[in-house]
Amino acid sequence: MTLSRRTFMAGAAAAPLAGALPRLALAEMTIGEATLTTVSDGNLVLPGGFVFDTMPQDELPALLQEFGLSRDRVTPECNLALYRDGTHTVLFDVGSGPDFMPSAGKIVDSLDAAGVAPEDVTHVLFTHAHPDHIWGLLDDFDEPLFYEATCLMGRAEWDYWWNPETVDTIGEARAAFAVGAKRRMEAIEDSVEFFDDGDEVLPGIAAVATHGHTPGHMAFELRGGSDAALVVGDAIGNHHAAFRKPHWESGADHDKQSAIAVRQMLLDRLASEQMPLVGFHLPQGGMGRVERDGDAYRFVGG
Ligand SMILES: [Zn+2]
Repeated sequence: MTLSRRTFMAGAAAAPLAGALPRLALAEMTIGEATLTTVSDGNLVLPGGFVFDTMPQDELPALLQEFGLSRDRVTPECNLALYRDGTHTVLFDVGSGPDFMPSAGKIVDSLDAAGVAPEDVTHVLFTHAHPDHIWGLLDDFDEPLFYEATCLMGRAEWDYWWNPETVDTIGEARAAFAVGAKRRMEAIEDSVEFFDDGDEVLPGIAAVATHGHTPGHMAFELRGGSDAALVVGDAIGNHHAAFRKPHWESGADHDKQSAIAVRQMLLDRLASEQMPLVGFHLPQGGMGRVERDGDAYRFVGG
């Protein structure tokens, strides 16, 4: 018998590897007739400087203390939104995959706990092409993990990472991001579909341009009946500085001033409309609401 990826995965599903802990679906809400769930890809372990170096260093200690954060190391959750309306099974981003860091790339177990096999996913919608969002496109065998899914990406995001000059202009620290994104994108080059700001990507799911964190970052507005939610990706990238000091530059953002403007616009809108959001790196499963708190905001999970 030839060991193909599919038979291997079927075997793996029937007899889970010892020690593999199932990760439960973390949060859920209803959008009309559909359900919106989050599933965990694990968490990242990043040097604190990746986020904090660009922030006002004299005011930073008070923020770190308020949230019990370390200046040296941050460990953000990675929560993928999963939308199911009975016809479409839509995954927003695909996580880190096996090659980014050992604490992430857990999506297959989490989907399994939610009753979803990789081949059940009909559509993958990308917010952006950073490693923790797109490297999971390829499995351990370097083949597309979600092989039945149609992949869709914002046109501007695709163009940025597809451009051969990006690897030379993005900066040494992130050159690997560019190489890694391109390699995954080449795997879907012939089948990927593009969208632009305002497009209804699928029934009830509209693209919202939120450029800044990356040059073509996209959020998604979900509507059904009287329900709505916004999948914000990394446009609101954490529950601390992004909410308490949205006007501070984040080291994680590509175009920092555009990212600030987008973050402030989204927070104001989400608080005013009391619209639930799903943030990829927000805690407690990433699903919650935005509340005003003085001249800043607060994330309320659940
Ligand atoms: Zn991210």
